Amino acid sequence: MVKQQPVTKSVPLAVEQEELAQAIYQRIRVKMDEELLALARLMASQKDHEIFGKGEFELRDKLNAVGATLLEEAANERSKKGYCGSSCACACGASTKFMGWRKKTVMSIFGYLRLLGSYYYCADCGRSQQPWDAVLRLDKRRVTPGAREAITLAGLLTRFGQAARATLVKLTGITAQQGDMITVGTLSSTFTKVGKQ
Ligand SMILES: [Zn+2]
Repeated sequence: MVKQQPVTKSVPLAVEQEELAQAIYQRIRVKMDEELLALARLMASQKDHEIFGKGEFELRDKLNAVGATLLEEAANERSKKGYCGSSCACACGASTKFMGWRKKTVMSIFGYLRLLGSYYYCADCGRSQQPWDAVLRLDKRRVTPGAREAITLAGLLTRFGQAARATLVKLTGITAQQGDMITVGTLSSTFTKVGKQ
């Protein structure tokens, strides 16, 4: 049995929430230890005049990777992940069959995440369903609500695309491709994360 570690919490958790917190903590503790050493090495490698400025942005990108790990585990440690039983209702009136778990890549404010979710298929109409996407409020392009908000805000700051993209990269590390944004509420299909491609 894994020894329970104290988890700092600002609000009291229900028993099942505390169990989830412990499960996430056990999953991330080894990864986080490696990340902390990488962060210490990054900062030790900076020249005096680069600790701030260059160092700040490089640190932010590394911390984004830590945030992405936490988000991934927080979602993937949930027990249901869109599972509603061996079959679900389909819009066509028939029912879909649970086909298994599918991995997908999602764009978040911390960069790309690899998420697992249930996958259903309807043999009558040929449509597939991934209910976890709706629960997580991912859009069709698999962009998280947080990333959508950041992209939209950056687009709102200026009507010039280049400036908006530069703002987004500087503030969040998210890089949107040419023609990807500006129109509020219209998001593009392709995003890249600085430092990951
Ligand atoms: Zn159907």
